[in-house]
Amino acid sequence: MTEDLFREIELLREFGFTHLDIGGQRAADGGQEDLLAELEEIVTACEKCRLSKSRTQVVYGVGNPNADLMFIGEAPGRDEDIQGEPFVGRAGQLLTDIIKAMKLTRDDVYIANVIKCRPPDNRNPELDELESCRPYIRRQVEIIQPRVIVTLGRFALQSLTEKSYAISSVRGQWLEYNGIKVMPTYHPAYLLRTPSAKKEVWADMKKVMTELER
Ligand code: URA
Repeated sequence: MTEDLFREIELLREFGFTHLDIGGQRAADGGQEDLLAELEEIVTACEKCRLSKSRTQVVYGVGNPNADLMFIGEAPGRDEDIQGEPFVGRAGQLLTDIIKAMKLTRDDVYIANVIKCRPPDNRNPELDELESCRPYIRRQVEIIQPRVIVTLGRFALQSLTEKSYAISSVRGQWLEYNGIKVMPTYHPAYLLRTPSAKKEVWADMKKVMTELER
């Protein structure tokens, strides 16, 4: 049995599957939508951590199930918790502008967070919350199989990869997660506070566009 298959079985167990028939679970072309919907049902019912008690709703992810490009953020804020969609507040508007500047739309890409429920008062996610939620973003990546992932900020990068990268030292450099190219960049909320960092993010997005054109 391959290492990948072992990992998949482990993930399915974490999601609460008691008997494992994963013959049809791999994302063949066109199967991604169903697999994402199946996972969404599980995530929507999740009560693995304390954030499930305070959320209005789970913020699962949106976009193209066959996307070449996936943006991964930190956690829903107030607007996202109310609307059930990632990146719809002020930081989200900025992300949407970045996507447009790349000559893409939100429907071309897939957008999700490493944490699916809003942390109260927008506090930082805690370690056990990140751990509880990690299988979900990893499974989303596994289903969509994007060519490139852009991680937004430190929590997205660290939680997806489970490595303690410092964003200031790796930003703008290609990393890899499970054979997928990862471009770490600043979080749009940071750009709202520090507009001078926009030029660095744009330089990172140009690298992403060049990679996607290959
Ligand atoms: N910030 C995030 O990291 N994700 C969202 O969905 C909104 C703001």
